[in-house]
Amino acid sequence: MKYKPENPAPANADALRKIAPTVCYPIDTLPKPDMALYRAARKTLTLVDTVITAPREACCFHVPAGHFFRIVSVEGPQVGDLNLWNANDLNETFYSGKTRALHGTHISTGDRMWSSFPAMRPMATVTYDTLDWYGWDEYGGSVHDVIGTRCDPYTNDVLNGVDYHHCCHSNLIRALAAERGISPNEAEVFVHDVMNVFMCTGFTPDTKQYFMKASPVRPGDYIEFFAEIDLLGGLSACPGGDCSSGHSSDTAACYPLKVEIFRTDDDMLKGWQSPALNGYSRSHGWP
Ligand SMILES: [Zn+2]
Repeated sequence: MKYKPENPAPANADALRKIAPTVCYPIDTLPKPDMALYRAARKTLTLVDTVITAPREACCFHVPAGHFFRIVSVEGPQVGDLNLWNANDLNETFYSGKTRALHGTHISTGDRMWSSFPAMRPMATVTYDTLDWYGWDEYGGSVHDVIGTRCDPYTNDVLNGVDYHHCCHSNLIRALAAERGISPNEAEVFVHDVMNVFMCTGFTPDTKQYFMKASPVRPGDYIEFFAEIDLLGGLSACPGGDCSSGHSSDTAACYPLKVEIFRTDDDMLKGWQSPALNGYSRSHGWP
C-alpha cells in the first residue's frame, strides 16, 4: 500500500507509466503437463482412502506418486488451507510464491503446484476444478489463490491482541506433529504458505490490499490433483468458514472438508514418470 507521495513526479512521469508491462516468467518453455494422459487416467479412478478434516482442525493425508486426490466440499461452504510436502523429505514443500509467479494469483486445471528450492519441480497438477466456471468477478476476485499466507496466531496477536489457537497455521502444526510424532515446535518449521482451496480473493483496486469474499463453493464441488511425487498433504478447514466476513475466531459457520485419494489403472500411466529434482548445478558461481 502506498500513501501520499512525498516526492514530485519527473517531467516524463506519464511516459514512464505508459510503458507496457512484460510478463516476468513467460511459461512457453515450461515443461507442459500431459493433460491428455491425466484426462484418460482420471476416467479409471478407484477410491483408496478418504480423510475428513473437522471444522477448525486440520488433517494429514498420503498420496503416492501417480495417484489422484480431491478436496471435496461437504455439508456447507468451507475454505481449506493446503500444505504439501514431499512425503520422503519434509524440507521439500509447496512454494506458493513461485507458483504464483509462474501461473498467476489463482490456479485451476492445468496449473501446477511447484516445490521449494533446491528441488523446485511440480509436486501436483490440477486436473479438474468444478469451480472453473467462476473465472474473475467484477471485483477482480477468483477462487483457489496462491496469495494468502494462511491465517495465523501471530498476525492475530498483532492486530487483535488475542490468543487464538485454531488458525490454519496452528491447525496444520497440530496435524503434522501428530502425523510425524514430533513436537509442535518441530512441526512449525515445516508449515508453509498455503494454497487457499475454494477461497474467493483478490486485491482491492485502490490500495491493492488482499480481500476475501464469500466462497461460491457448495457441497459436491471439488478440486482434483495428480500427485507428481509421493505427497504428504495437510489440509485445514479454516476458522473463517466460507471467509465471507472474518477468520481467526470461532464466530464463522464452519464445515468439514473431505479428501479422497484415488489410484488409476496401472497401464494408464505408461510413459509417465515423476519429475526429477531441479537441474540447476547449485554451484551458485562459487569459485
Ligand atoms: Zn485459515
